Amino acid sequence: MKKFFRRGLEGLVLGTLIFVSGCVKTTPAVVEELVDVQDVQVVEVQNVGFDVDDTLLFSTPAFMKGFESDTRPFSKEFWEVVNVSDPGNSIVKKSVEKILIDHQEAGDVIYIITARKPYNGHVMKEYLSEEFSVPIENIYFAPDGKTELMIDLEMDIFYGDADTDITDAYDAGAIAYRIERSTESSYTEKYNPGKYGEPIIENSEW
Ligand SMILES: [Mg+2]
Repeated sequence: MKKFFRRGLEGLVLGTLIFVSGCVKTTPAVVEELVDVQDVQVVEVQNVGFDVDDTLLFSTPAFMKGFESDTRPFSKEFWEVVNVSDPGNSIVKKSVEKILIDHQEAGDVIYIITARKPYNGHVMKEYLSEEFSVPIENIYFAPDGKTELMIDLEMDIFYGDADTDITDAYDAGAIAYRIERSTESSYTEKYNPGKYGEPIIENSEW
């Protein structure tokens, strides 16, 4: 778990520390040195992940571009169409964007993980990076399941709409929150909110 210190003592934090939006990022070794010092507040920073389709984006319009193209659904060529079709078609879900911004403002590290296949994936990554101000290297394709990646990233919290988002997060030891899927989504499978006793984010359809 990474730690942050809010600035409390002028001149205390030097050299080894990196300022991040008003907080000071440090290492566990430095934490040991500083915990006894008064006026330094330790704030735990969490690794927070978001799914893409029906979580950050209402992306049915991008998928429709794939289905309407002359490609076999879910083939390499299909994904090549879908993954370049978010700009101008997919709609950012404002309720989930707000959650992401709240985490950013708290100094948390944001990851985005999609189960899409990665063909032409750089276009989707650049789009998401720009829309949500998330570093491109924090955006991942995990078509074979998200659990291992979440373990590697030491994910603390994951937001997703699909049953597999919840179970993958739980398998990785993370807290999972269910995002509501729009009734207008073309995808209707793997959606049983509350099935695993997970908290559901109300009013997160859009
Ligand atoms: Mg999804």
